[in-house]
Formats: sequence, C-alpha cells, structure tokens
Amino acid sequence: MSDADGRVLWRTPGAGGSSSSSSSPPPALLTNEGNLVVRSLNGTVAWQSFDHPTDTFVPGMKVRLSHLTGEGNRIVSWKSPGDPAPGPFSYGLDPGTSLQLLMWNGTRPYWRTPVWKGYAVASMYLSAGTVLYTAIVDTEEEISIAFTLSGGAAPTRVGFVAMPTMKVPDKFSLDTGNRSAGECAARCAANCSCEAYAYANLQSSSAKGELSRCIVWAGELVDAQMIGPRWGGETLYLRVPVADASTSPGIQSSGKASGNAVKIAVPVSAAVLLLTCIFFVWFCRCRDKRRKTESQKTPMPGTRTGTTNTSSEIGEGDHTGDLEFPSIRFADIVAATGNFSKALMIGRGGFGKVYKAKLDGGQVVAVKRLSKDSEQGAEEFKNEATLIAKLQHRNLVRLLGCCTEGAEKLLIYEYLPNKGLDAVLFDSARKAVLDWPTRLGIIKGVARGLLYLHQDSRLTVIHRDLKASNVLLDAEMRPKIADFGMAKIFGDNQVKANTRKVVGTYGYIAPEYSTEGVFSVKSDVYSFGVLLLETVSGIRVSATEGIMEFPSLIIYAWSLWREGKAGKLVDPSMAGSCSQDEALLCIHVGLLCVEDDPSRRPLMSSVVSILENGSVSSLSLPTPVQPAFIEMMGEKSQRSDLENTRNTMAMTVLQGR
Ligand code: ATP
Repeated sequence: MSDADGRVLWRTPGAGGSSSSSSSPPPALLTNEGNLVVRSLNGTVAWQSFDHPTDTFVPGMKVRLSHLTGEGNRIVSWKSPGDPAPGPFSYGLDPGTSLQLLMWNGTRPYWRTPVWKGYAVASMYLSAGTVLYTAIVDTEEEISIAFTLSGGAAPTRVGFVAMPTMKVPDKFSLDTGNRSAGECAARCAANCSCEAYAYANLQSSSAKGELSRCIVWAGELVDAQMIGPRWGGETLYLRVPVADASTSPGIQSSGKASGNAVKIAVPVSAAVLLLTCIFFVWFCRCRDKRRKTESQKTPMPGTRTGTTNTSSEIGEGDHTGDLEFPSIRFADIVAATGNFSKALMIGRGGFGKVYKAKLDGGQVVAVKRLSKDSEQGAEEFKNEATLIAKLQHRNLVRLLGCCTEGAEKLLIYEYLPNKGLDAVLFDSARKAVLDWPTRLGIIKGVARGLLYLHQDSRLTVIHRDLKASNVLLDAEMRPKIADFGMAKIFGDNQVKANTRKVVGTYGYIAPEYSTEGVFSVKSDVYSFGVLLLETVSGIRVSATEGIMEFPSLIIYAWSLWREGKAGKLVDPSMAGSCSQDEALLCIHVGLLCVEDDPSRRPLMSSVVSILENGSVSSLSLPTPVQPAFIEMMGEKSQRSDLENTRNTMAMTVLQGR
C-alpha cells in the first residue's frame, strides 16, 4: 500500500522486498467481507488480513488457537483512539484450556468468558432484525470462533460489554415507556452521553405495566459492584467506546468508558473473590447439613422394612397432604417390570429411565424411575408428584401412583402405546401414519390441554417444557401433555415470574425467558407455536436440513408465509390428506405464537377458539412480524438448565445436560 507520492506505507509479509520488484505482484482481492486476500501463483491463499485481526472482529474473521502449538491470533486494541498502534488489551482463546476466551491487559488476564460447554452454534438477538450467530469449530488441529450476522442486518458494532450480576451504579435514570431489551440497547447506543444501561428485573412494577425496565446512566458510573445472582445482581451493559462510527464488533483500550471499566473491574474482581469464598463456605455448610438430615431420614439400602411411604411424604411435608393417588410398593414395581429389565425399557429422559409394566390386576402402566444420581430429578419428582395429582384433563397424562422407598423414587403413569410425538413425527418411516386430520387433532388436543393448565383448572400452571417428546400419543393418536417436572403454579393475580435458572429445551424457549428469565403463560404459548410448526412441517425446530438456507425453522416458516408460499411448509408425507386452508391457518397461528414480543402472542383461549372455529380465515388474523430471535441452533434439541446470567462479547452460553 503506498501513498500518492509512491511511498510504501505497508506491505504484506512475503510480498517481495520492494515495491519496484520486477516480478508480477501476487493477485490480491479485497472481498466484500473486508478480507484482503493475497494468493500465490498456484491460487492458494498466501496471506489474508483476516488472519491478522486488529481491534475489530469482522464477520467471517476467525479467532483461532492451535491445539498443536498452543498459538493463536488475538484481537488487539488500539493504543489510543487516534493511534492504531497495538494497545495493551488483547482478546483471544485461552491457550491454557482453549475452553474460554480471555481478555488480557498486557500479559495479565483481565476478564474472561464463562467456560465453553460444547455448543457448536449460538445466537444472540442484538436489535430488531439483527441476530448475531457465533460458531465454534473444534477440530484435532485447532479450535476457532467466528460470527456472522443475520441476512440483511445493518452493519453492526457491539458497543456494549455485558457485566453480569452487578449491583448497578448509583444515579441512574429510567428511560420511560415499556421498552424491550433490544430497544433499551438501541436507545442507549443512540445517545452519546449514555455510558451504560441495564434491562432490570423490575417484575413487581413492570407486571402492572407501569414502569420501564430500561435503566440508563450518563456520566461517571459510581458504586458498581459484582454481587452475584443471589443478591439480585443485574446485567450491566457497559458502553465500550469506539473512535469512529466503524462497522463491526471490536474492543478499544482507552477512553472514558474503558476508564470506567477499569474502575469497575478492580473492585469487581475483589468482590467476586470474596463472594465466591463466602458462597463456597455457605454452600458446603448447607450441603453437609442436608446430607446429615437425609442420612437420618433415608434407610440404608438393603434395610427396607417392607413398609412404603405414603404419597404425602414425598414432598417432605408442605404441598403433598392432599394427594389422591395410591402409593405403590417397590416390590410390586420390581415384579411388574421384570426387575427393571432392559426389554421393558421404553424410553429415557432427563429424569431417568421409563419402563412398561403390568401391575397385578393386569393394568399396563409406564413407570418412571428417578436416576439415583440426579439431584435435579429429585426436585422434578417432587414437583411432578405434587402438581399433576391436582390436575385432570383428557389431554394431560394421568399419574396413577408413586413409590418412594429408601433412595428409590418412582412415578407410575397411564401407559400411552404410541409414546412421544417426536418418535413418530420425525421418523421418515413412521410419520405417514400422521395424516392431516390426525395432526390437526394433536394440535387441537395440545392446545386444549394447555388452555386447561393456563386458565381452566383451579390453578394457573406454566408447563415450561412443552415439546414434541412431552406430548404422548394414545392408541388413537390422541395427545396428552406429559412431564410436569418443570411446571410452576402461579398465584391468583400473578401474570409472570422471573427466574435465574432458565429450564426448558433449546428451540422451544421463548426469547424473554432465555434472555431475562421471565416466564408466563406466553412463554408456554411460544413453545406451543414451535410445536405447531413442527407438527405441520414434520421438521424439528433444531433441524438444519429441510429449511433451505434459513437459520431456523421459525424464520423459514415466516419467510415462506411472507412470500405467500406457506403451503410449501406442509409435510409432503401428508400431502394427500391435507386441507390447505386449515394448514395455512395453523401456520399463521403458529407464527403469531412465536412472535418475539410476548404481548403480541395470543392467549391459549384465542388459539383454541381460532382452531376450533373452522370458519376463521387467515386473513382476519394479525400479520406476524419478522422473528428476530433464535435461541439456539444445534444438531439436536437438548434440555437446558441455564443460569440467567448473560456473558459478554455477544456469546450466549447455554448449558445442555
Ligand atoms: P426430558 O426428560 O429430557 O424432557 P423426555 O420427555 O423424552 O425427555 P421422559 O418424560 O422421561 O423424557 O420420557 C422418556 C420417553 O419415555 C418418552 O419420550 C416416551 O417415549 C416414553 N414415555 C414416557 N412416559 C410414557 C408413558 N406414560 N407412556 C408411554 N411411554 C412413555
């Protein structure tokens, strides 16, 4: 590269000793992505600028780490806003573990991401219409991380660094109006004096719809501290300044706000260390106390007396006194399952194994046996046993009894011979049995079951894990919603709740639930919408095949619908039996259910009434807006328990189990 006087300002390594070299220069191409690629004469890439990132991480660029040499590239800050010489801060994969990204100040690690849990692709909603996908490729030679933006997205620079679980700084102001997280970020980004924002968990006030959750700061950030999730910390999005209105994510080392970052980071690190120690001591004490109590309560294996616990003992007291199902002796279950023989095992889930069994009277049942090492399962067991006993509907699976003896915990259900919807719907050899009337019956049945949970039972129950494998099919292919291990009961006037522990299954989790931990009947409606689109299309929400070049089934469905080609979504295996009008109406309802904004999603009462009333036309329904958020794309759907603490630098960390 030379200036107007011919002075060489920069040359690629290996591009020849002088600009006046007589040999013809290697062909170089500046790609539309901004990568300057120099090819050798045989056409191979001799050098490319993307291998030498500076302060900006551009879509298509990779941050790499070689497993063989431990070497990799890093993004490096400028020395100052006006000086592009390498500054002290750099960002790359940790050569020690390769499982986390580190930011260094010189040689000292200054900040790190949570540890990578093995996902291949993650995505994050940045603002309306813009989704950032992060892809991690781990081969024998190297691990690399890259990102892309959703098609058509405007050029984007991630200006904010997320600092989770913070006591947010003092002297904040509310940006009024009920803004979404994306809008809040956009408002702060558009205001030069906005130094940081938080999309706060003001659920008691926001539930009444009065208060914005968008809190913003201008000027110096005073008294910020990382306090951990238990003390109600918020994610603080700290503005990282950019010297110019450049177009891509990057980091900078200096400027007012990074001064703020340093001011925050030092006390933060100390506080984190202190809190970690306190929590560790507290956790160990609680665990020891719990173990002691449990060892007093639980008979040692092999010392069973032959008596059984009553079902009211399951929940250790408080909720279970009014259970109305029988307790079944463990010995009877052992006999009925042929001592849990492999031949009678019909499934396996996060809770444990499921067996088909024949009880003494000849009744065929399904027995779920809690896996002994599952702590989460013990909670789910309690929840399921206490909750489902209070519910009865023909579209909910019936719990017939339970058994707790020693460490054994089992639930006994009515047996549904056609098992999970997923096993038929996504099996190319079996899916043909699901013709259109059957699928419509399943969709309507699930909708009725969900309406019962939300509105028509004496409780308001949020299922929180509705998905194809939790819809079981009876002999006539009628659906029953199963698995209430994650379900939550709402109080009379409660409309939503907030949790730090987001549970559910990738692809089915509503955006506000995965990002903010807010769940409500509308997060179940979202899962229902996903299930509906899967049922019509026969395509898994996590599939990467069958959805053309689109990043997800939801976006594929919406794009077809917008182009007036929604009929193409209909599973070809039921083409002969399908009523086009009914299928289009279902797709339309499905797209309304998966709207990003929960307030735009219909209630289940509306869904049921639209589906039941055959005369409703798609034209009379609202137009679904473009879906902007995709929770997770992976090779297969995974159950997730994830702490609702977001990490930084545009990565969504989801923990499968
Ligand atoms: P996860 O626990 O991760 O949500 P899951 O829903 O598939 O997964 P389970 O509810 O334990 O896990 O069920 C495992 C499988 O066992 C189901 O997919 C289904 O095939 C079978 N199964 C469960 N309950 C019954 C039942 N009542 N009748 C017949 N088969 C059942």
